[in-house]
Amino acid sequence: MGKITILSETTKNPISLIGERAGICWGANIENKERNYKRGLDCIEAGHGRTLEYVNVELVIDGYSARVIREWYTHLGGAPTRLQASTRYIDYGNFEYVIPPKVEKNEEAKRIYEDTMRAITEAGEKLEELGIPREDSAMLLPLGMTTKIVDKRNMRNLIDMSRQRMCTRAYWEYRELFRDICNALRDYSEEWAYVIDTQMMPKCEALGYCPETYCCGRKPKKNEE
Ligand SMILES: Cc1cc2nc3c(=O)[nH]c(=O)nc-3n(C[C@H](O)[C@H](O)[C@H](O)COP(=O)(O)OP(=O)(O)OC[C@H]3O[C@@H](n4cnc5c(N)ncnc54)[C@H](O)[C@@H]3O)c2cc1C
Repeated sequence: MGKITILSETTKNPISLIGERAGICWGANIENKERNYKRGLDCIEAGHGRTLEYVNVELVIDGYSARVIREWYTHLGGAPTRLQASTRYIDYGNFEYVIPPKVEKNEEAKRIYEDTMRAITEAGEKLEELGIPREDSAMLLPLGMTTKIVDKRNMRNLIDMSRQRMCTRAYWEYRELFRDICNALRDYSEEWAYVIDTQMMPKCEALGYCPETYCCGRKPKKNEE
């Protein structure tokens, strides 16, 4: 569906980098690569969260809905930054959009959904003919249209995000987006593969119980343990 591009500024060896940074503060020999790696692992396993903030992640996230990106923006911890495709300078005359699987599977629902998207496109064209500037006609664009962002954050933020967004109760497109990011990072390096496979998990896995009011049943609620 969407496309994740890992930019080269993303730290290639996150565990070694963590170990190197921590080593400086511990007066260790940071020329020793094996020891850096081992120290990095210790930091991760001991939950020394600050050390994770040295690991940079820069991504192009393309082809997901403006709606899921709106949710993406709620993860503010660690002061991430991002740029998003403009709705003033880009012509959305024939915008692309996400079709939710439940709509895709239902012929009647799909017809209504696609007719609505077409009607929005046509309305935009008519407003343009009337001399309405793009910055105003763009108000009609739906949250289901796809967008592109360039995103920069640290590994701690991404691990924290996994706790919320790998939750079965999180929005389905976010869960897909997060899985796509995990797969792209897993391919980026062996160290990333280790981090993804050991640290990215929903909060119930990390806590051993579900803290949500409405539980999916995967783990017991705290008082049911
Ligand atoms: C089932 C479900 C339903 C949801 N529904 C909604 C919804 O209806 N509306 C909505 O807006 N969101 C909703 N969310 C999103 C959720 O509530 C959070 O807004 C989102 O996960 C980002 O916040 P965060 O604390 O997880 O992450 P971040 O903002 O990235 O924060 C990460 C961590 O950093 C620390 N931190 C961050 N900021 C500060 C600060 N200012 N001061 C001190 N410490 C800080 C905290 O320890 C925090 O846990 C939903 C999520 C789920 C899973």
